[in-house]
Amino acid sequence: MAIIIDGKATAQKIRSEIAAEVRHLATEGIQPGLAVVLVGDNPASKVYVSMKEKACHDVGIFSDEHTLPAETEEQQLLSLIDRLNNDDRIHGILVQLPLPTHINEAKVLEAISPAKDVDGFHPYNVGRLVLGKPTFQPCTPYGIMVLLREYNIDLKGKEVVIVGRSNIVGKPVAFMCLKQHATVTICHTRTVDLPTKIGMADVLIVAAGRPEVVRGEWIKQGAVVIDVGVNRVAEKKLVGDVEFETAARRAAYITPVPGGVGPMTITMLLQNTLQSAKMANEIKSTAKEQSP
Ligand code: NAP
Repeated sequence: MAIIIDGKATAQKIRSEIAAEVRHLATEGIQPGLAVVLVGDNPASKVYVSMKEKACHDVGIFSDEHTLPAETEEQQLLSLIDRLNNDDRIHGILVQLPLPTHINEAKVLEAISPAKDVDGFHPYNVGRLVLGKPTFQPCTPYGIMVLLREYNIDLKGKEVVIVGRSNIVGKPVAFMCLKQHATVTICHTRTVDLPTKIGMADVLIVAAGRPEVVRGEWIKQGAVVIDVGVNRVAEKKLVGDVEFETAARRAAYITPVPGGVGPMTITMLLQNTLQSAKMANEIKSTAKEQSP
């Protein structure tokens, strides 16, 4: 039976480390700040935004929430982002997606200063990720890499198979695994013979958004299974993209849904905001030292 990768416990541990660092920064007069912008009243987005707010509050990060009506003009949103880009109290800016359809999402994401892009979605930061340079790492893939590290799962020379090629999970996690010297295969809806590809995986990362699309019997004995999918199949029942029971009998390690990757995502957002505040402070200190 597989070892369960406990995302909840790992997230809690990292959040308490973040809280300690935030307390330490406070002694230097610095408080990390995260601006969260919500446009419209998508119920799921509202839930995510309030979870992010609470998480900030719990670790001592200043949370600056902006809720705008669904009919907000693109220009108004861009002006708000411009203000936040120039606000010294704010170290991270997050625009909750999806945006209403009359707003150009790419334009909005590109308007966020790359230095405050704690979601890691700005093309500048995506480019740096692809180049293997230090950058803000998108939160869900970052959380996956931290879970692998916490469980001492080394990717060097391993066959990593990823199901899903989204910009927020599949593609970035592929480059992160490549940086860790894995051999990476990315699968999607046009992939031929998915079961055979999955059977090759030493480490399988699934972000398809389809309930239990990966059957346990396809998984190689002793594989590591990271299930990113969150699918509501009944009023109170969430399942992942992997058939958990059968997969857990073959895998060496597996993430549960819920309680696996999910709790890590907001945690890594807090981590990126903290990192951004520390970088902004270093830049300020260096500028002070160099001023005549
Ligand atoms: P997405 O943008 O909908 O992309 C899904 C990807 O999976 C696409 O590339 C799609 O292929 C591929 N795919 C779908 N069905 C497939 C199938 N039957 N066989 C092979 N490939 C298939 O999804 P996402 O935003 O990456 O999210 C994926 C899942 O992760 C969702 O359940 C989402 O809720 C969850 N998620 C969880 C967290 C968290 O914090 N826990 C964060 C982000 C996402 P094509 O490109 O060919 O269409």
